[in-house]
Amino acid sequence: MAGKSRNRDSYNMIFARLKEHHKWFAESIPLIASENIPSPAVREAIATDFGNRYAEGWPGERVYAGCTKIDEVEVQCMGLAKRLFRAKFADVRPISGVVANLAVYSAFSDPGDTMLAPSIPAGGHISHGKRDHSGTAGLVHGLEIEFYPFDAQEMTIDVDETKRRVRKLASKRAAKGSRPKIAMFGGSLFLFPHPVKELADFLKGYGMHINYDAAHVAGLIAGSKFQDPLREGADTMTMSTHKTLFGPQGGLVLGAAEHEEAIKKAVFPGLTSSHHINNMAGKAVAFAEALEFGKKYAAQVIRNAKVLAEALSAEGFRVLGESRGFTKSHQIALDVLKYSDGGRVEADLERANIIVNRQLIPGDIKAKRNYFRPGGIRLGVSEVTRLGMKEAEMAEIASLIRQVVINGKDPKSILRKARALRKGYQTVKFCFPDGARRGAYEYVRLR
Ligand SMILES: *Cc1c(COP(=O)(O)O)cnc(C)c1O
Repeated sequence: MAGKSRNRDSYNMIFARLKEHHKWFAESIPLIASENIPSPAVREAIATDFGNRYAEGWPGERVYAGCTKIDEVEVQCMGLAKRLFRAKFADVRPISGVVANLAVYSAFSDPGDTMLAPSIPAGGHISHGKRDHSGTAGLVHGLEIEFYPFDAQEMTIDVDETKRRVRKLASKRAAKGSRPKIAMFGGSLFLFPHPVKELADFLKGYGMHINYDAAHVAGLIAGSKFQDPLREGADTMTMSTHKTLFGPQGGLVLGAAEHEEAIKKAVFPGLTSSHHINNMAGKAVAFAEALEFGKKYAAQVIRNAKVLAEALSAEGFRVLGESRGFTKSHQIALDVLKYSDGGRVEADLERANIIVNRQLIPGDIKAKRNYFRPGGIRLGVSEVTRLGMKEAEMAEIASLIRQVVINGKDPKSILRKARALRKGYQTVKFCFPDGARRGAYEYVRLR
């Protein structure tokens, strides 16, 4: 009997925490650059029975029965993805951005080959990382990683230095009978477009496959407001579907038709068995929303980021990328070393219901600062923009952050102000009207 009531306690505790989380987020200012809020329509799609089924393989070539409706939705999903990104080919099955990257590594390189990628303080993602750092590319696929030379002033990849490095690398590797195989663009700290156009022909001259990781900026690319990698020379483009796109959490690979077969095999049977079909349906809804509302959304995201960066700079913060106008994406990066470190600032702001993440920034590794106490924080405006906030609210957010970080005010005294600011923004915008009846963070009970 005692065991039974313990199980019941656990069960109740889980739902209590889930509800508390919903309430907390409904009262917070969510500024994690890799997150967004999906519409109620997307949430409905991912709560369906699709999530309990298998549909291994390709529509029309499944290995199980029962896939009739799933196939129709998946064909629709691929069509929407291709239209959204003007791509000849889309594989919507990768269950995450990391898996999408692994599909590219598997399709276009062998263990021991070299990949060119941004380092983490230069904005790279751990899925591009070295074996020594337990990065996916090194640890899981055995790639050697060579970092792009990075210009910390301009906050982007240095084109001339990259050419020099690739020339040297190619002759060094040729002596060992291998060569650089993949050039990875894109990243997680990503303020300005990467020089794909400037480097594509050069890198292809060395026989390299060019992939653009649009995990962060996919929604901005879809809205034609960042850069257009597939037109600038990228062979393939990988992404997460939930950062600046409209969710749910998932992955996607796009590219030219000639790469279709290699990617398809890598994704199945290589990297997926179930591809989380409920999320596939959610992606289809999100792509339709992005086709309908994505241009206006991306334009507002970029305006909000720029205004927030300028306001933070005016409040006294050191905002990275100043010489280029701080940002051209949904992100802002602050150097907070003058006040404490990124870890402390992240924790203080959380107590004021302002949710941000600490961030390694250029210079941190040389100064031996680690991920727990890095020099910076990163802010993103995708989610607050989806909630309908505009330029005026960005100025208010900057002021709240200044009061906590620069003035050292008790976060508890700012908490009330953060809640008050959020009060007027409780539904998801940029979605079909029948998807907007419920609150953005409404807890939906099925029991
Ligand atoms: C977030 C991110 C990923 C990983 O995406 P998941 O969907 O979380 O697996 C990959 N690449 C970059 C650049 C990212 O920022």
